[in-house]
Amino acid sequence: MKPPAPRCKCLHCKMIFVPDYRNRGRQKYCSGAECQAASKQTSQRQWLSKPGNRDYFRGPENVQRVTSAVLDRLLHHAETVIIDGIMPRAELCRAEAHLPSEREGHRAA
Ligand SMILES: [Zn+2]
Repeated sequence: MKPPAPRCKCLHCKMIFVPDYRNRGRQKYCSGAECQAASKQTSQRQWLSKPGNRDYFRGPENVQRVTSAVLDRLLHHAETVIIDGIMPRAELCRAEAHLPSEREGHRAA
């Protein structure tokens, strides 16, 4: 005879649930969306509280990584605006070709 499935009380919503059979003894939250979000938040907080992980996202190389990601996003947004809205790319190229840049103008004078 099969033993009854073990049941647990969710730490977030306090409802009784049947944990996944592969995860018995470890699953503390039910599968509800809010409870999964609470589980993620708790585990991230625990991970960040470990001394070895505190500086994981800090330092010059991470500042560089985030800065370049932000710049990439801004450039992508600018291209999208140029292509889809204000000025089509071909017209922009033509406009650039006919207008000398300020630097060149100063050098010639
Ligand atoms: Zn729950």
